[in-house]
Amino acid sequence: MAFRKLSDADVAGKRVLVRVDFNVPMADGAVSDDTRLKAALPTIRALSWKGAKVILLAHFDRPKGKRVPSMSLQPIVAPLAKLLGTPVAFAEDCVGDAAKAVIDAAPANGVILLENTRFHAGEEKNDPALAKEIAALGDIYVNDAFSAAHRAHASTEGVARLLPAYAGLSMQSELEALDAALGNPKRPVMGIVGGSKVSSKLELLSNLVTKLDKLAIGGGMANTFLFAQGHEIGISYAEKDMADTAREIIRLAGKNNCELLLPVDIVVAEVVQPGAPARVRGLGQVDEHERILDAGPETVARLGRAMETSATLIWNGPLGVFEMPPFDKGTVAAAKLAAGLAKAKKLIAVAGGGDTVAALNHAGVTGDFTFISTAGGAFLEWMEGKELPGVAALEAS
Ligand code: ADP
Ligand code: MG
Repeated sequence: MAFRKLSDADVAGKRVLVRVDFNVPMADGAVSDDTRLKAALPTIRALSWKGAKVILLAHFDRPKGKRVPSMSLQPIVAPLAKLLGTPVAFAEDCVGDAAKAVIDAAPANGVILLENTRFHAGEEKNDPALAKEIAALGDIYVNDAFSAAHRAHASTEGVARLLPAYAGLSMQSELEALDAALGNPKRPVMGIVGGSKVSSKLELLSNLVTKLDKLAIGGGMANTFLFAQGHEIGISYAEKDMADTAREIIRLAGKNNCELLLPVDIVVAEVVQPGAPARVRGLGQVDEHERILDAGPETVARLGRAMETSATLIWNGPLGVFEMPPFDKGTVAAAKLAAGLAKAKKLIAVAGGGDTVAALNHAGVTGDFTFISTAGGAFLEWMEGKELPGVAALEAS
């Protein structure tokens, strides 16, 4: 995987357009979680330190091509300036004279934030005219928003085709970690895929069985596999119409020498409620009025043994309904096993996905994983083996 990096760029005295992900959670008009702002700091600081004018491009929420005041990026200015320790200028549009005037007025190594790119309908359409207007504001383009790279928008893809384009530091570390986990992994490489639906992760499963040495399936989607194998699953959440697909994935795994690890025991309850009485059952022992809500202890122990004999782990999707204790137990135990091995440098452990990150936070192990991707959709598309247009535009030819 070869892409152009920030370290390859000569930025002194240049105007550098930097695509960042500032789609942060807000409460009452204030930033409630600044993780994404912090992720952009290394690139902003590096550019400014080298004497570049740093012009930040970002989207916020879904204004659908119209100027929606409640979706302005203005509330980002103060917290960003505070984190950076330098002033941040704000332009009320991401193109045109308004933007140009603010950029021109900023000092040589100043930082400017441009208004929400999605206020223009051309952004999500990847309109070449909008990309051209954005490109006119800078000399160089840097993309530091991996999480927006699965979308070919004017500010992620279009403009990258018009200016010398490079990956920012945050984008670079994401691409390198993901490549180490799946592109060019240290083997044996193991996957864990959980969550609720087979149908939403079909492409992911089909891609993974061709690349991994072992694949553990958990969560609600394991129920579909158990059903497909003829096991009683009671009133468990499952997609019975996906049984053929599940059998096809089992066949593909066999063909590609990927060892499939399906649950060998499970935790059931009669109701999905926090604190509901939970019982461990063997595979043939689920009653018709019971639901499978978590992986059983033997299944988790088996996953732990598989991790011990793997060099790399890639994980997406919780093993149970982790939002409701006691059904978080399997996910938390497996997360602790992976984190322990990663901390001891015996395993490269990479994880991603919205609920997966929440589950690993809940388990208190995010700090011990080798890498955690917070990119959501882009992470999943990358795991599916798809080319991400925002990354493809940075590829060195
Ligand atoms: P991610 O966001 O990390 O990609 P998903 O959205 O695919 O993960 O899956 C997370 C959801 O899967 C959680 O809300 C969890 O409650 C649900 N889930 C896990 N196991 C089960 C199960 N046995 N039955 C029903 N839902 C489950
Ligand atoms: Mg989810």
